[in-house]
Formats: sequence, structure tokens, C-alpha cells
Amino acid sequence: MKIGGLLRALSTVLPVLFMGIVYLYVCLKAWAGAFGIGMVTQYVGAVTALSGGMLGILDGLMQARANAFYLRELFQFLDIPNDMYQGSLTVEKRSDRKYEIEFRDVSFRYPGNDTYALRNVSLKFQVGQRLAVVGQNGSGKTTFIKLLCRLYDPSEGVILLNGIDIRKYNYREYLSVFSVVFQDFQLLSLPLSQNVAAAESYDEQWVLECISKAGLEGMLRDLPEGLDTCIGKDYEEGGIQVSGGQGQKIAIARSLYKDAAFIILDEPTAALDPVAEYEIYTRFNEIVGDRTAVYISHRLSSCRFCDEIVVFHEGRVIQQGSHEKLLSVKDGKYAELWNAQAKYYVNEGSL
Ligand code: ADP
Repeated sequence: MKIGGLLRALSTVLPVLFMGIVYLYVCLKAWAGAFGIGMVTQYVGAVTALSGGMLGILDGLMQARANAFYLRELFQFLDIPNDMYQGSLTVEKRSDRKYEIEFRDVSFRYPGNDTYALRNVSLKFQVGQRLAVVGQNGSGKTTFIKLLCRLYDPSEGVILLNGIDIRKYNYREYLSVFSVVFQDFQLLSLPLSQNVAAAESYDEQWVLECISKAGLEGMLRDLPEGLDTCIGKDYEEGGIQVSGGQGQKIAIARSLYKDAAFIILDEPTAALDPVAEYEIYTRFNEIVGDRTAVYISHRLSSCRFCDEIVVFHEGRVIQQGSHEKLLSVKDGKYAELWNAQAKYYVNEGSL
């Protein structure tokens, strides 16, 4: 820190001092008749270039020092060994998106934990289906998605993609099948377009389409620089601060841009107001298109539009079926949760 400050001070003072001395020396020499006016220009030009170069070196040293701190963190991160089993199979690219996922008797404990977060989960996703995963907080919904995306491997059991253990696939290839909006998604201090595309170069038309599907046309219309408007004010004075709901919609647009066969939304409407939430639900079919969608929520009213609903409780799948079928089981967990939430809404007058 101290050296950084010293370098900064030197880089400001030295060139000025140096130039002053040189000007004085050259002028005195010229005044004494040692050389003509042409030589003065030549000397001053040479010295200006030299001092510019020296300034560049000092600036470079300063930046290297300032960045060293972040680089250390980055290298420490990059040095973390990857213990994950790396398969080499490629995932078949299918234009009909006919991928089938199966959880076969999967149990999972977080590293260092004695209790199971998931217990004997067996489940099959039908292609093109809208699957809702519901349950109280802590019932294992997010863990289920983390295993699906191979952020962790199951402690017991196996997950299959088109009949093959997902560990056998090349990880990058496997991930290309999924678009996920996690609850703790991150936006970057970059233009809106790059936030949607998650890349520096992008297909503008497709970005616009995804923004429109996610219900952000209104916001885009009001932006001073359109797609080039920066999110956040970290690097751009003119950047915009987005609300929680707008952020969530940008994250949804990003997941659409990837155009993967599966779209997974983990509580995607948690930060949205009731009107925006309703808007997303009613457009859900259009948003999802022919993809297979997995939709996680603890708000049951938002899952009615799904073909199949899976109810998690304490890490286990305890019920599965359509909304009507599940609701008809009067003493089932789904009916219990549904009635509890309906009562709450009626009491609060929110519905
Ligand atoms: P849900 O998404 O249904 O709210 P989670 O899948 O997040 O539930 O959590 C299931 C269980 O796993 C909970 O008991 C939770 O405390 C535990 N859990 C979640 N994440 C971790 C973690 N990173 N480390 C240890 N335990 C965790």
C-alpha cells in the first residue's frame, strides 16, 4: 500500500520535475548560444518522449502492484483441485430436444454433514413436460437441482441422461443441456446486452427477443442507451440500478438466451410483485416453448400450470401427480400446504 502510494506520487511529480529541469537546461544552453532554435525543439521533443515512456513504466508498475492482490485471490481459486469425476462422453445434440433425465434411488449428504439432504429420490422427467418441485423450506428442492447440474455428485444412487450416468459425460457438454436461474443469480457491471448473453459478442436480435419474452420491453424502452446501458454504477456513472424484480427478469432472459433443452427456474418470481408474477405465469408456456421446464417454488398457487408436481418433504419425494390429483388426496402434504397457503392468502386478502 505504502509503495503503491509512493509510486503514484513519483509518477506525478517526476515527469514534471524532469521536464522543468530539461527546459531550463536547454533554454540556458540556447541563451548562451550553444545551439540554435531547431536543436531546442529536437531536445525538448526527445525529452518529452522519454518522460512519457518513464511515466508509462511507473504506471505499469503501479497497476501491476494494485492487481497483484486480486491475482493472488484468483490464482488461489484456480489452484483449488477439482476432485469431480470427469467423464469424456459427448452429449448427443438433438434438435428435437429429446433428452430424458432419471434420478434412480438418489441420496445425498452435504460434505461434512451427517444428515441426508435427499433420501432415495427416484424420478423421471418426461420430455417437454412442465415439472414443478414444491415443498417447505429445507425440504431439498434446491439440493435436487444442484445434483441435477452436477454441482455435487450423489452420495448414493445414480442420475441418468438418456440412460447413461451423467458422470460419464464431459461436464461442459452436459451443462450445455441446461439453463438454470438460481435464486442467488448474479448480474455483472456490464451492458444489459452482455448480461443477457453472458458473453462479449452476441446476437442482438436474439437478445431483444429474450428480453421481450422475459417481460422487459418496458424497461428497455426507458433505458437511455438501450441495450448498451450498463447495469450498476460500479464502472459507469450512467449505469442503472435495477430492482430485484427487474434483476430476476434479466436472469430469466439470460437463461432463455442460452436456449438449452432444459430450463430450470429456482423460485424465479420470489422478488417479483404480484402483477409481474402473474404476468410471468401466464406467459410461462410461451417463455418455455418446447423446452422441458423444472420449476421450483414454495408458493403452490404458482405451480398449478405445471403438468406434473413433485412434493418434497425432509429430502424425500412424498407425492407426485397433477394439481387436481394431489389436491384430491385430502390428508396428503400437498393438500395440507395448499390449504395452509390458501388460508393465509384469504386472511391477508392477497388473492
Ligand atoms: P429447499 O431448497 O427446499 O429450501 P435445500 O435443498 O436448500 O432446501 O436444503 C435441504 C437441506 O440441506 C436443508 O436441511 C439444508 O439445511 C441443507 N443444506 C443446504 N445447503 C447446504 C450446504 N451447502 N451445506 C450443508 N447443508 C446444506
